[in-house]
Amino acid sequence: EVAQAADLFAEKTGRRPGLHVVMVGDDPASDVYVRNKRRDCEKSRLASAEHRLPADTSGEQLLALIARLNADDAVDGIIVQLPVPAHLDANLVIESIALEKDVDGFHPANLGRLLAGMPAMVACTPLGCLKLLDEGRVPLRGKNAVVVGRSTIVGKPVAQLLLKRDATVTMCHSRTVDLPEIVRRADVVIAAVGRPRMIKGDWIKPGAAVVDVGMNKLETGELVGDVEFEAAAARAEWITPVPGGVGPMTRACLLENTIRAAFARAEIAL
Ligand code: NDP
Repeated sequence: EVAQAADLFAEKTGRRPGLHVVMVGDDPASDVYVRNKRRDCEKSRLASAEHRLPADTSGEQLLALIARLNADDAVDGIIVQLPVPAHLDANLVIESIALEKDVDGFHPANLGRLLAGMPAMVACTPLGCLKLLDEGRVPLRGKNAVVVGRSTIVGKPVAQLLLKRDATVTMCHSRTVDLPEIVRRADVVIAAVGRPRMIKGDWIKPGAAVVDVGMNKLETGELVGDVEFEAAAARAEWITPVPGGVGPMTRACLLENTIRAAFARAEIAL
């Protein structure tokens, strides 16, 4: 779908939707993510560019680059790969990205727009969670949805999206008392904690839907989610695997956000 939209955009404008990725320093995990994004763009016929800056780049230099990308008409989406080195203020960096090019949806104004029910660029992982639930035809209206994890990039926006879809949403975090009991009442569970297999299979209500956002690398090198997959799958009606669930859908949603940004900026209906 993204590739088709990219072709349509190219037909209408004479250029391909463009995603620009800024990376400061040489964090090995970030390097893998950036390379994956480039590959995804190639496959989906988007234009992409990487801006790799040395770890000692100053705040002024980084903001100057972002200002240049904000002003460049061929740039539709800008993401700054996080984490940035400690001497840089990540919030300031994110706030400097033009709202309409903020395809990660991390800009506080985009988060505020989501909260206010206004059109917003929504972060890719929460968007991907909803897309997976929709593809799985999981009903949300009036259902008890429990979100475990309250980060600004996953837990909070996913809770907003579920609320928007008329679910009754409970948010849990590290201070939540009796998490197992709360999860047992959930028709829909979103696990976004970052602790391997902490949500036990027997917490899952029979027939529930489970979205596992967690990506945890064990010492053995195995990548596992936040949910005990086999035991949970035995009770759940529907569950996303790790790897191969939310991760790839998050990547797809970044491409979709870039397409949306490109069409909106060019004032072409999608
Ligand atoms: P954060 O570390 O920012 O947030 C984790 C949340 O989990 C916090 O709200 C924390 O609570 C809560 N938490 C920690 N311990 C417990 C506990 N024992 N019981 C209940 N809640 C707890 O993580 P992110 O939201 O950034 O990421 C969560 C997971 O999702 C990670 O594994 C990450 O790798 C993965 N992820 C996957 C993506 C993908 O594309 N598939 C994208 C983004 C993230 P408190 O606020 O009280 O500290």
